[in-house]
Amino acid sequence: MTAERTQDLIARIYRDLDELEAEIARLDREIQGKVPLHVKAKWKRCGKPRCACQRGRKHGPYLYAYIPDEEVRAKRREKGGRGSTRKEVYLGKDFTPPEGWARPQEVRKLLQARRRLVERREKLLKALSRIEEEVLGASRWTAGPGRKG
Ligand SMILES: [Zn+2]
Repeated sequence: MTAERTQDLIARIYRDLDELEAEIARLDREIQGKVPLHVKAKWKRCGKPRCACQRGRKHGPYLYAYIPDEEVRAKRREKGGRGSTRKEVYLGKDFTPPEGWARPQEVRKLLQARRRLVERREKLLKALSRIEEEVLGASRWTAGPGRKG
């Protein structure tokens, strides 16, 4: 692939990532409006040195809910009343909305749609990692700025 085409491809991936992230954020607002809990999306780095997440585009966003929890509350009392009274719950594949949620079926559907978008985003991120690594790898062998031959 020529350098120009590689740049085009990278630009397109970034654009697709932007679109997916906007769509995910939109879904998150919809989900937040349907669940009686605080919900938070988190971005993560995986720790692999060659991954695109090391250069700014992190993984996720993964969705968590904060559910009032007796055990957490008891621990808080032991610690003298400091800290959260809520348990962090990952709204991933195995998540089942608890009893009492107004529209558990709707929430589950939204979470499924969201998961598909995050999966698509992960694929793009993987492709980006591969392409960027190739570009970065190639640039190590060219006499760029700062390199003395
Ligand atoms: Zn990563």
